[in-house]
Amino acid sequence: MRPAESVVDGSKAPGDAKQAEPRAEPKDLPAVDRLLREPEVAALLHEHGHTLVAGEARALLEARRGEAVAGRLAASEVAPAALVRALRQAVAHRLAPNLRAVINLTGTVIHTNLGRALLADAAMQHLLAMMAGPNNLEYDLAGGGRGDRDSIVEELLTTLTGAEAATVVNNNAAAVLLTIAALAREKEVIVSRGELVEIGGAFRMPDVMAAAGAKLVEVGTTNRTHPHDYERAIGERTALLMKVHTSNYAIQGFTSAVDEAELARIAHAKGLPLATDLGSGSLVDLAAHGLPREPTPQEKLAAGCDVVTFSGDKLLGGPQAGLIVGSKAAIARIRKFPLKRALRMSKLPLAALEATLRLYLRPERLARDLPTLRLLTRQASDIRTLATQLLPEVASAVAPRFAVEVVDLLGQIGSGSLPVEQLPSAGLALSPLGGKKGAGRALDELATALRGLPLPVIGRIADDRLLLDLRCLEDARAFTAQLPALASALGAAGVATKGLAESPRQA
Ligand SMILES: *Cc1c(COP(=O)(O)O)cnc(C)c1O
Repeated sequence: MRPAESVVDGSKAPGDAKQAEPRAEPKDLPAVDRLLREPEVAALLHEHGHTLVAGEARALLEARRGEAVAGRLAASEVAPAALVRALRQAVAHRLAPNLRAVINLTGTVIHTNLGRALLADAAMQHLLAMMAGPNNLEYDLAGGGRGDRDSIVEELLTTLTGAEAATVVNNNAAAVLLTIAALAREKEVIVSRGELVEIGGAFRMPDVMAAAGAKLVEVGTTNRTHPHDYERAIGERTALLMKVHTSNYAIQGFTSAVDEAELARIAHAKGLPLATDLGSGSLVDLAAHGLPREPTPQEKLAAGCDVVTFSGDKLLGGPQAGLIVGSKAAIARIRKFPLKRALRMSKLPLAALEATLRLYLRPERLARDLPTLRLLTRQASDIRTLATQLLPEVASAVAPRFAVEVVDLLGQIGSGSLPVEQLPSAGLALSPLGGKKGAGRALDELATALRGLPLPVIGRIADDRLLLDLRCLEDARAFTAQLPALASALGAAGVATKGLAESPRQA
């Protein structure tokens, strides 16, 4: 068994051998035209045209010339076959997308950095069908005149939430901004100090208020806010009372908050509207699926909220979108506000959103058809069974450098939903063999090799192990098919890691 340290040291050997190879001079390199006339380049030119291939050939030869001037270019690299191979790789690299599919083995289901909610098959199919040609995005097929894109999802949203009216924008941050601007511009909005949230990406409630042109009036304290705090703060300039669901933290201990029902009474007694930002907001009762409860827009509307905002790509399991549901009067003001046009949804997510919402009309099928709910409701025992099945193949791919075992894990829902709740899960733990010294480096190398696979695999490092939580692994074959590539990346140690970083990205 080779300890990790010696493997990394061993990687120096091929580099040293290279030093002995004869060097190429700048004059040994062909001109761009000559490289383009190589018979094997004809196929590349035929497929991609002159502009791209010639551009890459120029850049390649320039880089090689620099290396030659520095005395770092091996003679073998100026051979036509080597240059053609490098050119083919450069063209492939240029055409490979930056946005790529990955395998999420972090254990966080709605992972903000990994694209949040996965779209349902129905949503992808509808999206594809609608984008393939013209559609009635803003055309009234019954009357033959101009239509409104909101009408594509409004009735679905009112049916599902019990709201009188609904509208949609690009994301929930936009929904909150638009709601405040439309209902309280140049006026005051009262919010509890315990609810002045910051979510990722510089979205802070006080800043959003300012951007919307409203004045924030904070009431209560961080841990306790009472009805009379709101009542006392209401004045001539008050336009809106607002509650914000503290989706990414929990205040525990000596706490008190005013719920929507009570706040609605206070607001309505003064003729003011009440808005609630739910952040995630689930359209179904998650407790019925054995998951921790999360507030629903339905119950907030029933409690008397005039506007409820929530995300399309968190627990809802759809595309990025900001959903605004509420009373006819409030939604009409929001829809008429000029900012709405700037924040309106494009036809792509709108098509996906409609198909996603339609899945909710069949709640009994939801845990099957909606990937977010399907992954969240996967039983830890089933995930453990999968881990046990994959163990031998993974173990042999990473042997002899890492030991692999099946472990119980705790995952997360993610995207700020239910931050203190954890999902019992299972997976594989990969531990470096060969002693504590160099273990951190070996783990980093393993994580890099996993990320360097054609379908990058993202796990997490904790307690000197690399953990692969299998909750989100539905296509196990896509993962196991890459194990030979992982084995060879690890087998070649430092050299392989370097090679991976430099080799073209694969689509
Ligand atoms: C996530 C979140 C938002 C923003 O939603 P996006 O859809 O990401 O723009 C706003 N408010 C709360 C409370 C959130 O949790």
